[in-house]
Amino acid sequence: MMSKATTINPANGETVNEYERIDLVKAKEKIASAKEVFTSWKQTSFAERSKLMHTLADHFEGNKEEYAKLATTEMGKTIVQARKEIEKCAWICRFYADKSEHFLANETVETEATRSYVTFQPMGVILAVMPWNFPFYQVIRFAVPAIMAGNTGVLKHASNVQGSAFALEDAFVKAGFPKGVFTNLNISAENVKDIIEDKNIVAVTLTGSDPAGRSVATIAGANLKKTVLELGGSDAYIILDDADIDAAAELATFGRLQNNGQTCIAAKRFIVLDSIYDKFLEIFTNKMRNAKMGDPMDETSYYGPMARFDLRDELHEQVLKTVSQGGRLILGGEIHEGKGAYYPATILVDVQPGMEAFDNELFGPVASVIRAKDESEAIALANNSQFGLGSGVITSDKERGEKVALQLEAGSSFVNKLVTSDPRLPFGGIKNSGYGRELSSYGIREFVNIKSIWID
Ligand code: NAP
Repeated sequence: MMSKATTINPANGETVNEYERIDLVKAKEKIASAKEVFTSWKQTSFAERSKLMHTLADHFEGNKEEYAKLATTEMGKTIVQARKEIEKCAWICRFYADKSEHFLANETVETEATRSYVTFQPMGVILAVMPWNFPFYQVIRFAVPAIMAGNTGVLKHASNVQGSAFALEDAFVKAGFPKGVFTNLNISAENVKDIIEDKNIVAVTLTGSDPAGRSVATIAGANLKKTVLELGGSDAYIILDDADIDAAAELATFGRLQNNGQTCIAAKRFIVLDSIYDKFLEIFTNKMRNAKMGDPMDETSYYGPMARFDLRDELHEQVLKTVSQGGRLILGGEIHEGKGAYYPATILVDVQPGMEAFDNELFGPVASVIRAKDESEAIALANNSQFGLGSGVITSDKERGEKVALQLEAGSSFVNKLVTSDPRLPFGGIKNSGYGRELSSYGIREFVNIKSIWID
């Protein structure tokens, strides 16, 4: 009997839906169709692709409420943030609809040839393995540039958000894309190996955890297929001694609780300079305490439940482990009675290298606040991490902030703003946060053959 992917509403533990998984034979048939469609899709003009991408953007805007509710029901993000996610999907569609031709224009290179230039040609069928935390956006961030470049895409989405996965497939068809340009494969993670090995898959992108990334990269490497990996992080935000403490605490609270604490680029370690540490901690603790945890469909909830019960329990184990290692819990850290996968806003202090909350990613509403004696110690602590995804600096002196930002080992460093993924800027990590870039002109060039042409 075929297994099913079950979606469970984490706000109440009730089953939302069950989706029959497809077997490998069926999955390979769908990939073969995606390859077939590729042969005609790659011939289409940028103008044709752009028109369809704008229609897809219209579709997201027109169905925002329905899609937002689906995302909230499947993984618990607040409805307010779910609507923003769908709006962002529309933004990405429009951005690449308008810019792809320019990003992929031939580049003339002066040589001894009559003519020599670089051209960017699509590669074929790209496999995307995606997480649940932004069930629409993460997929769109991969699919839109890949498809604008002339590729076709197949998706292995997280098991708990298959409703969103099918809604995305349907959205592409409704926008007028030929069937097979974007296909959802409802397969289990165990089948990903066989899919990567399929001759019709040319490259793989994975957004998810470090172990999943290593596994996919190993298999893809053995098959000489290109990978882009967007993995976890333990982002450090340095709060300098000249910062507006109230504004810093406000930013920190939103940064740590947005998406119910489950954002790869969320601030996770707050490194605060000694002279303002106590004041910051007092204000931050109050704000975290007062943030309303509640039903994600309630527009007044600041944050909702975690996406799955097992993830909530794992997070709690990490908090307990940190405490057993000498970290001190000053807020939250308790699982309350009740139906949903809720975990309260939690603050750990006295967190040091070697402790769970310092060394590993805590993917939920738990903040570690760390004291640094001066700026250089703060930078050293920030960089003392296996990860390097995002990072931030909070200061009233922008020049000083920029100097610190340039020293942080991360794919992005933002001064006085939470790191966000913005289509105009490349997005990705270094160290164990992965490699390759999404978004901007860099992202669309990941899945193209950068080909040299020489006419003697
Ligand atoms: P995950 O457990 O790694 O799952 C991500 C996807 O990979 C899911 O589709 C999952 O399928 C699949 N998967 C899991 N193990 C696999 C394996 N061994 N081989 C092939 N596929 C496998 O991660 P998650 O819990 O969904 O997401 C949270 C993680 O993603 C965090 O570490 C977060 O920081 C990271 N993330 C990074 C970014 C970024 O842009 N850098 C963005 C968002 C999230 P199943 O659901 O069927 O298990």
